[in-house]
Amino acid sequence: MCGIIGYIGNQDAVPIIVEGLKKLEYRGYDSAGLAVCGADGFSVVKQKGRLDALEIRLKQQPLSGFAGIGHTRWATHGEPSDVNSHPHVGQQNRIAVVHNGIIENYQEIKEYLQQKGVTFHSQTDSEVIAQLAEYYYDKELIKTVVKLSRRLEGSYALGIMCAAHPDVLVAVKKDNPLIIGVSAHGHFIASDIPAVLKHTNQVYYLEDNEIAVLTAQGVQFFNTELETVSKKIETVSWNPEAAEKGGYPHFMLKEIMEQPQILKDTIANLLSGKGAEVMQQIDIKKFTRVCITACGSAYNAGLVAKYVFERLLRLPVEVETASEFRYKDAIIDEQSMVILISQSGETADTIAAMREAKRKGAFTLSIVNVVGSTLSKESDVCIYTAAGPEIAVATTKAFSAQLTALYLLAVRFAVGLGRLTPTQAKQYIGQIQSIPKKVAEILQEVDTVQRYAAACVGYKSVFFIGRNLDYAIATEGSLKLKEISYIHSEAYAGGELKHGTISLIEDNTLVVTLATVEKLYPKILSNAEQVLSRGARVLWIGNAQTDDYGGRLVQLRLPPIEELFAPSLSVIVLQLFAYYIAANKGLDIDKPRNLAKSVTVE
Ligand code: GLU
Repeated sequence: MCGIIGYIGNQDAVPIIVEGLKKLEYRGYDSAGLAVCGADGFSVVKQKGRLDALEIRLKQQPLSGFAGIGHTRWATHGEPSDVNSHPHVGQQNRIAVVHNGIIENYQEIKEYLQQKGVTFHSQTDSEVIAQLAEYYYDKELIKTVVKLSRRLEGSYALGIMCAAHPDVLVAVKKDNPLIIGVSAHGHFIASDIPAVLKHTNQVYYLEDNEIAVLTAQGVQFFNTELETVSKKIETVSWNPEAAEKGGYPHFMLKEIMEQPQILKDTIANLLSGKGAEVMQQIDIKKFTRVCITACGSAYNAGLVAKYVFERLLRLPVEVETASEFRYKDAIIDEQSMVILISQSGETADTIAAMREAKRKGAFTLSIVNVVGSTLSKESDVCIYTAAGPEIAVATTKAFSAQLTALYLLAVRFAVGLGRLTPTQAKQYIGQIQSIPKKVAEILQEVDTVQRYAAACVGYKSVFFIGRNLDYAIATEGSLKLKEISYIHSEAYAGGELKHGTISLIEDNTLVVTLATVEKLYPKILSNAEQVLSRGARVLWIGNAQTDDYGGRLVQLRLPPIEELFAPSLSVIVLQLFAYYIAANKGLDIDKPRNLAKSVTVE
């Protein structure tokens, strides 16, 4: 993971890089650093901790320059410390490198260089890149980078500077994302678009093994044969305000509140925009099974989709985490459709799952938020969610947009299979179109959830139960809570509790119970009663009539909707519940400990 940014142009690189790093901090935040190139080599400032700590160091040790590289780290090799932070510089202070990824053969390279007399200072895999580049360097920087990329195994996005060429910044990547931004005052490399959005919406997406050579005046691209590559510049539609907090205390709350609009945009795109055309091209009749694979919350969206697809399509649907799918020798073939879901489109495990699915001849469909990302380009077809930049590590709006995209796919496919008549499909689509308004209604009444959550900060453990679709969305409620509030939580299918977990229920344990699936109301109610009779408290989300069990059950109602789509409403309550608990605990909600957003390492 981690974020990298580099700038070369006619403005001071340091404030531009620091500001860019702030926009990338969601990718990693255990240490940060930057380097600028001066007459006597590199000046580097690196600091363990959050970006604020680096800013304090920069006040004591000011830097400036017209070109520089910066990094915010999520350690994979070597503990978070000043010395392990990036940029790493070769022992002769001639080459500086920022790296996102993992160098798998670093140990072997390290030993090789140590035999040649190179002394290493850090425990990272990344330092070998700077040391090896210096070892290879023979006046021509691009040739050095080609040689370097041939020797490195693993994944990397690299920003490289050389003291002998202070007016050049070089970038190369393999399996990790990197964009090149073009602005009126200079050029950028960055892990993600928000880092450059304030300066430009004109970007190139670097492909694997392409080398970008940036100067203040222009950008050139080469392949590893050193032939020039011509690339198309893309215009990013996100606006700079989308990457700002806009008066909210946290990005997460802002992103929760943006959901009515982004759902409207996503639905519009998939019903009549480019997304509709893409969906139209898929002939669902060719497939005998559907497999959904993803990680984290995107996986939970897949769990919800399984119920919706199976009910509407009557096709078997399997949902598997991408990290398992990629290694399990999945039983798929040309008649299988594999759906891959990822906000960033750069999730390493999901990309690997897609490649495995393609290798076995399956048809791959990705649902992605970031235009131009690896998944969007490599899958057979890609459907975009219109969630805009999501900065908070814990996803909210991208998750909701994924759910909506999956519903629309299900309806479209059900029509394709003749399982829904056009009239029935219209009714379902009408219900999907009503989601944004109903989400807005819930968001107008946050006070009830806020008050309830304020009383829950003391819990050590919370259980989430539901049946069918409610179980699927319970998994997301539980994940949200543990991610940002650090309260242990687990999601269970209501009927499973009695097979083990109920032994953990004691006086005042909180059991969040989802009840939107009508035919299972009596079943989930009796599961709630089982925990209430063992002293638990219940937060009951749904409209089914129930008792308050002497004040131990609190009910939160939802706007009425076709039950297949109720997860889109209950998840809003679950997001707010998690958010307000974490806020009441005073936690760093947008950057929870140990987590990073787009997980580009295995
Ligand atoms: N492997 C590198 C390190 O541990 C970079 C990790 C990352 O991409 O966040 O420093």
